[in-house]
Parts: sequence; C-alpha cells; structure tokens
Amino acid sequence: MTDKVKYDPDNIFAKMIRGDMSCVKVYEDDTILAFMDIFPQSEGHTLVIPKKAKATMLFDIDTDHLKDLIEGVQKVARAVDKALKPDGVRIAQFNGAESGQTVFHIHFHIIPIYAGQPLGRHAGGAPADVSRLTETASRIAGAF
Ligand code: 5GP
Repeated sequence: MTDKVKYDPDNIFAKMIRGDMSCVKVYEDDTILAFMDIFPQSEGHTLVIPKKAKATMLFDIDTDHLKDLIEGVQKVARAVDKALKPDGVRIAQFNGAESGQTVFHIHFHIIPIYAGQPLGRHAGGAPADVSRLTETASRIAGAF
C-alpha cells in the first residue's frame, strides 16, 4: 500500500511542523506535535503527529519514531481525558485513502466520546470556531 503513496513534504501537517501553516496547538516536544482537528468529530478531537518521521502511514514509519509517537499519543490522550472527562476516548489511525485517510503524514486521532452524543463526520462538515478550539486546547494543555 505504501508503495502507492509517496511522502509529500508539502502536506498540510508537514507545513504545520515547519510553522508554514497555523494550527491550534495543544502540546509539542522534540518528537511530536498535538493540535486540534479543524473538523472535530467531538469536543476535544485532537491529532498527534510525529515531527521527524517522513512517513505517510503505519507501514512506512520506522519503529523508533513509532515508539515516540505512541508514547506521545498516550500522554496527550491522558491530558484530554483529565481535562474534558469524556465517557470514553477513541484512538484512531487510518492507512490509505480507501480506509478514510485524507492527510498522508501519519497521525493518530484522539476522539473523546460523550455518552448519548453521536460523533460528527470524519474530515468534513463545517470547520470549528477557532476561538472555541483555542479554549478547549488550553484546557487540555493545562492537564499535562
Ligand atoms: P485522516 O482523514 O487523514 O485520518 O485525518 C486527517 C484529519 O485532519 C481529519 O480529521 C481532518 O478533519 C483534519 N484536517 C484536515 N485539514 C485540516 C486543517 O487544515 N487543520 C486541522 N487542524 N485539521 C485538519
């Protein structure tokens, strides 16, 4: 599958890492960047991406970068859970357009689940209000 998708250094997540594109940041260290999804499926939907790996999906990331990434996912998910107190947290990761992947820089979704509230559409609909995203991001950032 990865042989069909070449890593594009100008994908939108690579631009965010370089600071060429804005995002509502939740957390950043040497290895990962976490930010709010602009089309959130629920309140607090956060994306976690590796900063150094030039990988499109799970199949082409080297294991050292993957270890850093999954540790980062756990760290950010704990903060999301602590800050927002959802009833559950879904961790999702898509590989290939047919699976639903729309941005080809590997990433994990952290999607809080609130009982009785259906999830929004994946990667679509109206973009979220940036001031609301910023407020949610600062609540999560305060929970590390
Ligand atoms: P994928 O479909 O590749 O698993 O996930 C890509 C995610 O990136 C989607 O959930 C989509 O809503 C999100 N996304 C797409 N464009 C932007 C953007 O410009 N900014 C942010 N913050 N998220 C985006």
